[in-house]
Amino acid sequence: MEDGKPVWAPHPTDGFQLGTIVDIGADSLTIEPLKQKGKTFLAPVNQVFPAEDDPNKHVEDNCSLMYLNEATLLNNIRVRYSKDKIYTFVANILIAVNPYYDIPKLYSPETIKQYQGRSLGTLPPHVYAIADKAFRDMKVLKMSQSIIVSGESGAGKTENTKFVLRYLTTSYGTGQDIDERIVEANPLLEAFGNAKTVRNNNSSRFGKFVEIHFSEKNAVVGGFVSHYLLEKSRICRQSQEERNYHIFYRLCAGASEDIRQRFYLSSPDTFRYLNRGCTRFFSTKDTDKQILQNRKSPEVQPAAGRPRTSGTVNQSRETLEHCAELLGLDEEDLRISLTTRVMLTTAGGAKGTVIKVPLKVEQANNARDALAKAIYSCLFDHVVTRVNQCFPFDASATFIGVLDIAGFEYFEHNSFEQFCINYCNEKLQQFFNERILKEEQELYQKEGLGVNEVHYVDNQDCIDLVEAKLVGILDILDEENRLPQPSDQHFAEMVHSKHKDHFRLTVPRKSKLAVHRNVRDDEGFIIRHFAGAVCYETKNNDALHMSLEALVSESKDRFVRELFENSNNSKDSKQKAGKLSFISVGNKFKTQLNLLLDKLRSTGSSFIRCVKPNLKMVSHQFEGAQILSQLQCSGMVSVLDLMQGGFPSRAPFHELYNMYKQYMPAKLTRLDPRLFCKALFKALGLNAVDYKFGLTRVFFRPGKFAEFDQIMKSDP
Ligand code: ADP
Ligand code: MG
Repeated sequence: MEDGKPVWAPHPTDGFQLGTIVDIGADSLTIEPLKQKGKTFLAPVNQVFPAEDDPNKHVEDNCSLMYLNEATLLNNIRVRYSKDKIYTFVANILIAVNPYYDIPKLYSPETIKQYQGRSLGTLPPHVYAIADKAFRDMKVLKMSQSIIVSGESGAGKTENTKFVLRYLTTSYGTGQDIDERIVEANPLLEAFGNAKTVRNNNSSRFGKFVEIHFSEKNAVVGGFVSHYLLEKSRICRQSQEERNYHIFYRLCAGASEDIRQRFYLSSPDTFRYLNRGCTRFFSTKDTDKQILQNRKSPEVQPAAGRPRTSGTVNQSRETLEHCAELLGLDEEDLRISLTTRVMLTTAGGAKGTVIKVPLKVEQANNARDALAKAIYSCLFDHVVTRVNQCFPFDASATFIGVLDIAGFEYFEHNSFEQFCINYCNEKLQQFFNERILKEEQELYQKEGLGVNEVHYVDNQDCIDLVEAKLVGILDILDEENRLPQPSDQHFAEMVHSKHKDHFRLTVPRKSKLAVHRNVRDDEGFIIRHFAGAVCYETKNNDALHMSLEALVSESKDRFVRELFENSNNSKDSKQKAGKLSFISVGNKFKTQLNLLLDKLRSTGSSFIRCVKPNLKMVSHQFEGAQILSQLQCSGMVSVLDLMQGGFPSRAPFHELYNMYKQYMPAKLTRLDPRLFCKALFKALGLNAVDYKFGLTRVFFRPGKFAEFDQIMKSDP
């Protein structure tokens, strides 16, 4: 960064601004902004970056810039976004900015055709380029592939996932039913698993890994969907401006008269589980709008106005009666199970006796909510199972899997659900590091390039904190639940006592938690994740009492009974009679997650990093600072550090040969590709520090390949 040359310096809302360095201090620089001459300010040295000569220039592969740093990446994405070029490569990683409007022809059938069979980098960056690379790699290497789509809520993960699935089935399907079914499974899964949130009107509240299976001849033969962590709390409670799962409102709005009567449906406003947030929203895509406007909901008294029975169950007799009927249960049995709890007394005798303890109102409310959550969660499992039955396959040679799972998240209150999502993101980040950072260095070594090792933060310690045997948080949680009287507070204490002075773990400060949130400071912990520190509360109300679960699994309704018979929880909990059945939600997820990662590790992988351009969910608005923090969280900044110090652009000898032989005298083209490249570079007088010859390819310093390409094409 020479004197007088423009640099990128921090800007509170744009992320970075152009300026020049006017003074150099011990650890800060004095910057004069280009736009506000004279208004100098101080910036930490490590937050000021060299800028490209032309700040309006943009490139398809960010690695062809001269300076690879977070500021030039942000600027490249910004310039491209302003021209509706939402996709950008950083080497093989695709960055996708959500445009929040339909860019004409971007996903048209013609565009699909264009990308088929074309190498990465020969056409503009696109999600189709990644999909096609996965297909070609699968075909050539005879190896399954995975595409990992990540980003925060509303960044466009699910939309891009759908584009990948449609691309693959359209391009490489057999033109039979099965192709369409794989794509058509989405509306169904979204009806049951998506909801309106403040961040996204169609937010997926579950993670999924969709596999498209291919035959020996690389034609689509079937599909398989695995799902992860459906958000259960939403079933009973929604924040302001948020809704329960779409299916409820669609059912209320669109069901036939016959179904309305059979299921006692009325306006969503009358249902306690549906009216806590908002009951409707108007978006152009959602058919709710039409349905709700065209159809006048019957007038029904709001729930709050209905008579309430005295006692602990805060519901009317009528509701209880309807519930019992629809669940195939005896009304009195249901009432008793909702208002009492079976306990095993150990006092006096060795065997103990069973007694029924009446529940307090709050406990009974929790029991009711736990039941609703358990039913819905089993129902969702069932929907996915049915979906999978729609694209069965006998045998497959390979698959391409697309992972669409929530990114790192933290809210004001973070519960077990956030804990699991963030744990999952730690594992995925580790996989990303392995694949991108470790393998990059291994490639340098393999090719015999003497390059300095690049350091990145390994997050294994954080993963261990969660999943280690016995001392990991998940096992401590299970241990707690085996106690006769599990308590949130004791659980938190155990976590802290087993990990004194752990770098990743701290006790929440009293001032923050206890005072403002009415939480005791020993009822939680803070974990320092790779993407930031998050405070988790250890309250847990999901426990479904044994007596309730036992009741439902003996329902007269076969469908309801089978829902519970097939759920993984029921067997466990019956063995541990008298205990709570949520015991292993965490450890079950750990097993699922480790299976997923084993699967990912056995495939070739591509990464799509989705970016949300603004919080307002509108088009043409680029909030730089927001976007910068997403790039940092996703590990992109570490990738740039690695590449700036290394050789990010590379080209196999034979590719260079084919690309440039037309510009060369015939004599030179008789050389083998490696010698050809050597002769070519010598003839052009390229600076030897700008490139290195590996065993199979040439490696270029940042920006140097683009320079070389320019010389070749402009000056044959
Ligand atoms: P995520 O799954 O990351 O939470 P979604 O994929 O649901 O985010 O995207 C949120 C919304 O943004 C979509 O409902 C859609 O309106 C819009 N959107 C996302 N990607 C695109 C795109 N490529 N083109 C147009 N609109 C998009
Ligand atoms: Mg989604």
